[in-house]
Amino acid sequence: MSDQIRTVSARWIFPVEGAPIERGMIVIANGLIESIGRRDGRSVDRDFPDASLVPGFVNAHTHLELTPIACDETDEIRWLQSVIEHRRRSTPESSAAAIAANLAQAIRLGTTLIGDVTTDFASANITACAPVRSFVYSELLGLKHERGVETTRRAWEIAERLEAERGDDSGSSGVRGDRRLGFSPHAPYSTAGWIYRKAAASGRPLTTHLAETPEEIELLRDRSGRMRDFLESIGAWDENWAPIGSKPSDYLKSEGLDRVDWIVAHGTYLQKTDFSLFSIPTDRDDPRRSIAYCPRTHARFGHAPHPYRRILELGGAVCIGTDGLSSAATLGVLDELRFVRRIDRSLECETLLRMGTLNGAWAFRLDRETGSLTPGKSADIAAVAIPDRNPSDPHELLFDSDRPVVATMFRGRFV
Ligand SMILES: [Zn+2]
Repeated sequence: MSDQIRTVSARWIFPVEGAPIERGMIVIANGLIESIGRRDGRSVDRDFPDASLVPGFVNAHTHLELTPIACDETDEIRWLQSVIEHRRRSTPESSAAAIAANLAQAIRLGTTLIGDVTTDFASANITACAPVRSFVYSELLGLKHERGVETTRRAWEIAERLEAERGDDSGSSGVRGDRRLGFSPHAPYSTAGWIYRKAAASGRPLTTHLAETPEEIELLRDRSGRMRDFLESIGAWDENWAPIGSKPSDYLKSEGLDRVDWIVAHGTYLQKTDFSLFSIPTDRDDPRRSIAYCPRTHARFGHAPHPYRRILELGGAVCIGTDGLSSAATLGVLDELRFVRRIDRSLECETLLRMGTLNGAWAFRLDRETGSLTPGKSADIAAVAIPDRNPSDPHELLFDSDRPVVATMFRGRFV
């Protein structure tokens, strides 16, 4: 096919698995990386003389339906209130328009794999038609029993309908094509314990917000505090609420919830003794728990320092999420990584790049398909312009810079 690129080269290639290659070249066949090495003067279909090639970025946690809101609030509970009001004003049409525009932005910023938490699978058809791998999680909400029954009934029904429409024969494994459907129990403070168990028993991909605020910890421990006041004020509190346990980590450790994969958004207030829950297991089939750290959103609310360094040091998979545009300025994973670089100069740039690519692919169980520039994997590539310097660690060219993503390739095609 005419638009099929066969060879692409750049000033630097950062494969993530393997050392950086100066003046490197990637050979692509049938959408897969066939080989990677030095260009050595050969002619190529497309050259990026002022840019680098990196694996397509993995955004492990976002909300495509959210748009910027006029709220400078740094208090997360008051911010949450603004988001709820904003959502009440949105229509299916305005929501679909936001999802399409935001997904286009994410792809333009180099994203080739994305995990989107959405209302009633609103983004499912849009992402299914886009040049990107996606996990679309329907958000499950409700402490009150009736609300929970309604939210789960709708989510299960819509998931089945969407898969029937696509002729999906993969059943509850959800594994087929580039878009997979999962569930996201929203958070311990907003979603009843039985909903977590029901989601975990579904066999679908899962994600949740966990240990995000001190108020969540307080509510689980004491059933009181500002979060309870907030829930009462919006009519969401349930006197009969039965949480999974008195600590966020109980949501990962208790019976049934301990045998499934979890992408945990935030995890800021996990305890030190919880960090080992995120260590990468030796057996590929063991449950995978990963942290989706959303650096700019975390900083926006002035939280306690995020434990990503400790979790990485324990061999854990920390990946990157942008969260939504209501709390972050862009849907660019590279923007998040550059933010981390500015606040944490001692973290190796190679580790940063891995957090934004391969660690996310691992969390989605797609590390054999994508996440690094490795022969046999999908040619999912971001071309990032780099400054004309020669630092001792060439990875710094990516992060000590504000040069843009200039091209995104998905399955061997520029998109
Ligand atoms: Zn979120």
